[in-house]
Amino acid sequence: METYHIHINGIVQGVGFRPMVFQLASAMGINGYVMNGNNGVHVFFNASEADAHKLFHDIKHHAPAQAKIISASLQKTTDKTFEGFAVLMDDNSGGKKQVLLPPDIATCSTCSQELHDETNRRYRYPFITCTQCGPRYSIIKTLPYERHGTAMHSFDMCQNCSGEYEDIGDRRFFSQTNSCSICGIQLTIWGSAAIKISNDTSNVLLRIKSYLSAGNIVAVKGIGGYLLLCDAAMPGTIELLRKRKHRRSKPFAVLYHGINEVDKYYEVNDCEKKLLQGKEAPIVLLRPKKDIAVNICLTQVAPGLNKIGVMLPYSPLLDIISGDYGKPLIATSANISGSPIIYKDADALEYLFNIADYVVSYNREIAVPQDDSVVQVSRNSQQPLIIRRSRGYAPSLLQYAPRTNECILATGAFLKSSFTLSVNGNVFVSQFLGSGESYESQQMYRNTQEHLLGLYSVKPTTIVTDKHHGYFSHRYAVEFSQKDGCAIQFVQHHEAHFAAVLAENNLLHTSHAVLGIIWDGTGLGNDGNIWGGEFFVYQHSEMVRHSHFDYFPTITADKMAQQPRISAICTTSGTVMGNAILKEKFMSIEWNNYQKLICKATLFSSSVGRIFDAVASILNLGDMQEYEGEAAMYLQVLAEEYVAANGFIMDGHYFEGANCDSNIPTAYLMQGILEDSKNGKAKPYIAAKLHYSLVCLVDIVARQVNTDMICFSGGVFQNTLLVDWIRQLYDDKYRLFFHKNLSPNDENISFGQLVYYENKIQSKINNSKEMSNRQVERVLTD
Ligand SMILES: [Zn+2]
Ligand SMILES: [Zn+2]
Repeated sequence: METYHIHINGIVQGVGFRPMVFQLASAMGINGYVMNGNNGVHVFFNASEADAHKLFHDIKHHAPAQAKIISASLQKTTDKTFEGFAVLMDDNSGGKKQVLLPPDIATCSTCSQELHDETNRRYRYPFITCTQCGPRYSIIKTLPYERHGTAMHSFDMCQNCSGEYEDIGDRRFFSQTNSCSICGIQLTIWGSAAIKISNDTSNVLLRIKSYLSAGNIVAVKGIGGYLLLCDAAMPGTIELLRKRKHRRSKPFAVLYHGINEVDKYYEVNDCEKKLLQGKEAPIVLLRPKKDIAVNICLTQVAPGLNKIGVMLPYSPLLDIISGDYGKPLIATSANISGSPIIYKDADALEYLFNIADYVVSYNREIAVPQDDSVVQVSRNSQQPLIIRRSRGYAPSLLQYAPRTNECILATGAFLKSSFTLSVNGNVFVSQFLGSGESYESQQMYRNTQEHLLGLYSVKPTTIVTDKHHGYFSHRYAVEFSQKDGCAIQFVQHHEAHFAAVLAENNLLHTSHAVLGIIWDGTGLGNDGNIWGGEFFVYQHSEMVRHSHFDYFPTITADKMAQQPRISAICTTSGTVMGNAILKEKFMSIEWNNYQKLICKATLFSSSVGRIFDAVASILNLGDMQEYEGEAAMYLQVLAEEYVAANGFIMDGHYFEGANCDSNIPTAYLMQGILEDSKNGKAKPYIAAKLHYSLVCLVDIVARQVNTDMICFSGGVFQNTLLVDWIRQLYDDKYRLFFHKNLSPNDENISFGQLVYYENKIQSKINNSKEMSNRQVERVLTD
């Protein structure tokens, strides 16, 4: 008999790893112990060499479903004799904290069955969990992951629960979130002006049902924060919710109780079903079936759109509520317009009565707020695209191993904020942290970052951020570096996008030239202009801006993103046809003012996002937009109509006959659209032709670069039609790379910043191109 030490790291805490080791070791009659440490799970035991190897092998091959092993080692260690086999509490005695944080896990099927089983002692207990499901990241306060270091610390287990916790044969053996209605978490419901109505859990559940039936809006504390619930088939209630939330058109998600109902009303493929029912349980964007009227008010839920955000209950509480109600419910993050999700009970009681008629809380705190994640799958090529990465996905990112052990913090961009932290050889990409605009979003950003740094007891030595000094993430980084004396680095916005998609596809070290097509709304360019329609080439750790959409004037700062009609006049500036079509969208004083601003413009943009806005305005799909990408989504809906009728077949594209050798002629594109519009071409046709033209550019530029490897990033690639069309035409011709575990939008910037810095990527100036930055014609002729 010798003494051995097995060390396993990865997502190995909070997922039932120690119980699994205990069971394997006990079955083999091995003596020793297993415990969580700062850097994973450790097993010390006595065994023959053969048994030691067998145990090591078995541990690796019987890892619990939610575990992810990154490293595993078996070594002989100092002789020590053990009696029996024990599961020990955490060893927090030193060493670098390296363990990966588990995300929150949706209710498993066994817990779900127990929840609805009248004979089970946890029947209708809204916080049922086991080692394979329940909240994790949202309740972790200290590492290693043990009950006393989570928001469960204040709940003492009753005799029955303790019995399960200590019973090796029980599936709740060492389950840190273990509780029941006797010893666990209780619901409370509050009425207007925060008057407590009841804190009897069964009574609260009955009231939720009756209040919802009566057309009320009920705020319910979920896993990552409060959700607003109301009947999805009551137009008046939904309108009221929109009014109170100051949300004119942004779509709401809908909670269904089961997959069968979703299957009945929506076109849902296997990939989408898997996502809905998976452990991440995100909101999935689905198309209602055409031949059967969906059982919700489509117009009120998602005005002007052809897809609905659908989700299934990911927590037992939502499972009970939606099951009791029996009909689909609107389920949307409870926040005050522009601010992040509310997750503290005191804030909920203070602010939510402006929106909700009732508030339901429970007495376990949320340590880390998270929104529901949003995912969609492109229709044709079934390319999954993450729109919002949060609950269920954040924070661990396993596909990328940092090159150094240096602690680096990358602070991200602005509108879709996130941060990335590289610590002790692991990389964490935070959940979506709001828009970065409001004070509350900025507070949440700070708190989440401090929480993660605190968990790992680290301080960054380098901080990486966006070049735009107007961004909160930039100011935060500067402040941080000054206060803490750490180094600061700046990475260009679109280069960060490109670095992120390169890293996600393991292309950083390829010797081939890779084309990066990075299209989004805005980002500060290296020349001081607003970029967003970019073509880069990456090779040998160097990034060159190959070309871009010709610059057009950018005026009125933020207003331009909110008013597609301004993008329309900027991209068509001075053209007779543009003036004729667009003038009526403005009061004459506005028109004259904007024309002057355009003539005198000193700031220019190449943004494809703004080009989408401009086309949407020309087609009268909307001159104002409530949220980023709204106008572009309406354009996509129209283009999808065309494709549904005609397939991916188009009679031509807007760049035919254009010279794209130097840069992409924005004016030429816009002229084509104006002409088609003037000639009375159908809107779906024009919308589809715009998409197709962009798809054709992929090929045009890839030929110029002479590469077969193309990466795509930026918010424009949330457009599933564009992605499908690209894959439809080029899957056989090029190697196409999209984001995998991150969103294509600005949520990936923080990760890209980290990658860019860590891999010492250099931004090279393309001399021949930088000199020929054409702007749209008006600017040149003036
Ligand atoms: Zn479970
Ligand atoms: Zn109990």
